[in-house]
Amino acid sequence: PQWEKQVRKSARPHSLSGLTVLVTGAAGFVGSHVSVSLKKRGDGVVGLDNFNSYYETSLKWARKGLLERAGVYVIDGDINDKSLLDKIFDVVVFTHVMHLAAQAGVRYAMLNPNSYVQSNIAGFVNLLETCKSSDPQPAIVWASSSSVYGINTKVPFSEEDRTDQPASLYAATKKAGEEIAHTYNHIYGLSITGLRFFTVYGPWGRPDMAYFFFTRDILRGKTISIYESPDKGSVARDFTYIDDIVKGCLAALDTAQKSTGSGGKKRGPAQFRIFNLGNTSPVPVSRLVSLLEKILKVKAKKKVSPLPRNGDVEFTHANISLAQRELGYKPNTDLETGLKKFVKWYLSYYSDSRKNNF
Ligand code: NAD
Repeated sequence: PQWEKQVRKSARPHSLSGLTVLVTGAAGFVGSHVSVSLKKRGDGVVGLDNFNSYYETSLKWARKGLLERAGVYVIDGDINDKSLLDKIFDVVVFTHVMHLAAQAGVRYAMLNPNSYVQSNIAGFVNLLETCKSSDPQPAIVWASSSSVYGINTKVPFSEEDRTDQPASLYAATKKAGEEIAHTYNHIYGLSITGLRFFTVYGPWGRPDMAYFFFTRDILRGKTISIYESPDKGSVARDFTYIDDIVKGCLAALDTAQKSTGSGGKKRGPAQFRIFNLGNTSPVPVSRLVSLLEKILKVKAKKKVSPLPRNGDVEFTHANISLAQRELGYKPNTDLETGLKKFVKWYLSYYSDSRKNNF
């Protein structure tokens, strides 16, 4: 393939102990941050992303530019394309796969349910099939979601809590991913770690998420809707800053055990892990808005409405003791500090792109 030379170069670690990682969803929010961090510390990284139009593709292409400047090549392709995956795995021997490609967001499922099944279930199976037959098998770390806790009301959420009551199709596909991952671990000895992220925010974030479009709408003087549940007040989220999530991802890769499978050469049970990566301090959305007003120095036009049944849950709160113990995960960015960094990026990114447009 025409990208072969660039991919080989991008995949080469800078030291003997460096990892060689395929990052799916590399042009996405979390994927771009993880890819740059891996490359910076000397690992080899190859990105894969289909640049779909779920949200503004210009942002994805801008992230790709950032990755290229850091030395990471991103292949424009889909995880559902088995022959493409086979080609990539023919060219590079990966020690790890960081799987972040997915159809994210809970509300969009009402408009395009199939995109969730296609990317989060069929695409994931396709990737697992490729990893299964690769020799040596790469260790897999992938993004599940806090949404698997569903309408659970016991807080904070621990990994052993029930996850059989998803509130959205998105959550159901992430839960299905966890079950599918377990089967591949059990039958084929793949080493798999699932990370349940809790509302990740920060620079280069996702325009479909509340902190992002609230910032945009407040600056434009548009009214924003704050949802309230009848018994619990303002909806609350365990907002987790991107740098903390990246540290958790890198620690999960570094502690991932090599697979035991491949060609029947089993050496004991392969690793199967699931961790919460959150911030342990839920913040009501009303407080998110007042922080944004303070940082932007603009008063928001607000409308309070009851939480519609659209897949959103009322409350998320992570118990992170397991990740703390096993991964040394320790989030240390509070919401105000993280939002300041987001707003700084937002203002400079959109003023620059406006300049570029004219
Ligand atoms: P994102 O949408 O910014 O990134 C996902 C990327 O995957 C996108 O660039 C998209 O183009 C790509 N993609 C989608 N389907 C693909 C396919 N079939 N083939 C190839 N590429 C494909 O989302 P994100 O916020 O960076 O999320 C990364 C992962 O973390 C996702 O799995 C998401 O479900 C999960 N997650 C995110 C959050 C959060 O708050 N951001 C919370 C919980 C879980």
